[in-house]
Amino acid sequence: KKGSKPNIALWLTKDHQIYQEEIPYPECEPDDCIVHVRATGICGSEIHFWKSGRIGDCMVDHDLILGHESAGEILDVGSNVKNFTKGDRVSIEPGVSCWECKQCISGRYNLCPSVKFSGTPPSHGTMARYISHPARFLHKIPTTMSYAQGALIEPLSVGAGAVSRANLSLGQPVLVCGAGPIGLAAAICARASGAHPIVITDLEESRLQQAKDIGFDRTLKVEMDWDKNETAKRIRDLFKSGDEVILVPEVAFECTGAQSSIVSASYAIEAGGTLLQIGCGKPDVEIPLMAMNFREVNIITSFRYKQTWPTVIRLMHDGIFHGADKLITHSFPLEKTLEAFQTCITRESRSVKVQILD
Ligand code: NAD
Ligand code: ZN
Repeated sequence: KKGSKPNIALWLTKDHQIYQEEIPYPECEPDDCIVHVRATGICGSEIHFWKSGRIGDCMVDHDLILGHESAGEILDVGSNVKNFTKGDRVSIEPGVSCWECKQCISGRYNLCPSVKFSGTPPSHGTMARYISHPARFLHKIPTTMSYAQGALIEPLSVGAGAVSRANLSLGQPVLVCGAGPIGLAAAICARASGAHPIVITDLEESRLQQAKDIGFDRTLKVEMDWDKNETAKRIRDLFKSGDEVILVPEVAFECTGAQSSIVSASYAIEAGGTLLQIGCGKPDVEIPLMAMNFREVNIITSFRYKQTWPTVIRLMHDGIFHGADKLITHSFPLEKTLEAFQTCITRESRSVKVQILD
């Protein structure tokens, strides 16, 4: 039954070192499944934990196995698990919530205060060949879906979660700030919800090229020496439709966390519209609250996701998220995980989503 290869895991130390080391084959508790992890994406948060040792109050204070964007094959099934069998292909939902607290019971399980989130201290993550994970947070993927696609369900779920917070409707003009994996995931989900037109901003031309490759042709390369009004005006100019119709973004998905981007988005949004904050920057960001007040601009925050996996798997499989595969720019075998991490921080690689395959 046990996996036939060494169970190598990717560890991060509190003094910013990453290394690979073999760990024992996991125990299969009654409610868990053992998964052979076949694809894992590297997320910006992992690079952040590696380089800074913390995200906000969340500190790396012991050696930790990273990873939370994964899909794999079931090797072993716990005694209580009814709905999976050996050989099933699954995408892993990394936030294991308690299912007992007020948030969990009311359905907002992404806000569970005792959530164990894979690869976020103190919980070990999915960057090992064989892991155990509660069956409740595993979701079957079709045989016609690749593991690489299965590992994209997590970042796409961040986009899907934000889109459901925004209640988008057909033909709504939408701004997406930031063309990283999360901004592009948000744009893909907004497009699938009928938003149009969609304008995407970034500081980096290569990231905007990625957006164009996925089918978003209205992009704006923001210059840091533009002030908020100039940036807002240039954003609005891109919403023109035909000769006469000048649209304004009704919703802005802010996916950078950068103060200047949040502020210029707030000015670009139409009166009565919504700033949908996904990006995470410094804890205390200054926003033009009074200017927003005079125009009734709403602020909605969005944290991770809840109940997104089955829907996102279906939309991904049926081609509704066309172009989403192009998020993956680099793939490495498990043994070359350190090289994969290096690629993420090498500017010349122009990586968007780097995956590890096994
Ligand atoms: P990323 O760093 O790869 O992408 C951010 C992009 O924003 C980059 O391409 C960068 O060039 C661009 N950018 C930076 N400043 C800008 C500015 N002033 N104007 C325009 N573009 C600018 O990160 P990512 O993985 O795509 O994640 C985006 C953000 O979402 C991060 O802050 C991350 O922490 C956050 N995030 C939030 C959630 C959530 O649940 N809310 C989940 C995952 C990630
Ligand atoms: Zn809970």
